[in-house]
Amino acid sequence: MIIDGKKEAALLREEIKNEISSLKKQKNKVPGLAVILIGDFLPSQIYVKNKEKNSKEVGINSEVIRYPKDVKEDEVLQKIKDLNSNTDVSGILVQLPLPSHINKEKIINAIDPLKDVDGFNPINVGNLSSGYQAIVPCTPLGCLLLIKKVEKSLSGKHAVIVGRSNLNGKPMAQLLLKENCTVTIVHSKTKDLKSECQKGDIVVAAVGIANFVKSDWVKKDSIIVDVGINKIKDKIVGDVDFEEVKKKVKAITPVPGGVGPMTIACLLKNTLECFKKFNS
Ligand code: NAP
Repeated sequence: MIIDGKKEAALLREEIKNEISSLKKQKNKVPGLAVILIGDFLPSQIYVKNKEKNSKEVGINSEVIRYPKDVKEDEVLQKIKDLNSNTDVSGILVQLPLPSHINKEKIINAIDPLKDVDGFNPINVGNLSSGYQAIVPCTPLGCLLLIKKVEKSLSGKHAVIVGRSNLNGKPMAQLLLKENCTVTIVHSKTKDLKSECQKGDIVVAAVGIANFVKSDWVKKDSIIVDVGINKIKDKIVGDVDFEEVKKKVKAITPVPGGVGPMTIACLLKNTLECFKKFNS
């Protein structure tokens, strides 16, 4: 089974659009998403453009605040403060990476945890790892929704996560723990990566190395989720050797068309959830 992330993301966007439309009728208000973009890094510009387009399509008011790459940190912090107190803004996102003179930690900490639609603020990270209600980072949330399309109950499954980034690996582990999986996280210092991966009923690859996970690393009938986005010449490929691995496993996400579309759809979902908390 090839998990169609494009289709699932379209379904999720449709649900969000319908909910926003009925909330608009009840409250005469729609969610607002503020995105701060600093500098002219092309991939960031493309991501932000997609986020803006997708937001508008579901009825979210999207505002992009652009700064030149030499903007002062204080100016950005002041803007975040203003957005935190702006009742028209339900969600705030600062597009990463940031220029080196800007302290990422300070910026993320400045966002109101209730508007932190990326789920990177330590309050949300802490709530997620404590098993409390939290805003969950969009990519791992999208991965979980895709896994659950294949298998409704994940209880007792062994999940192996390749990569331990704050963005992907760690929150993915927390989400799968909450689903009662037994979770192993492997990383660049893990001794026998292959045999660890072979234990996985679920393998999530978030490494950033093209075709890294090979078919003899995975179990027959496992579920494979590929977070990676790697460019080989003009082709985008994932972290999993898709052509070989797909022959063996129960389900796998392709790249492109797997996790990527779900990430943006989950951003819209998080924005809607934040709006509902402020307007219940
Ligand atoms: P990251 O911060 O660079 O983390 C990569 C992780 O992989 C680290 O934990 C690292 O281990 C581990 N790793 C690196 N080389 C390894 C090796 N040889 N063996 C085992 N583990 C190794 O990356 P990230 O931000 O999580 O992103 C991962 C990939 O996902 C990238 O391709 C990125 O473009 C993509 N991505 C996709 C989406 C989407 O929407 N689909 C969203 C975000 C990111 P150490 O911690 O030991 O260094």
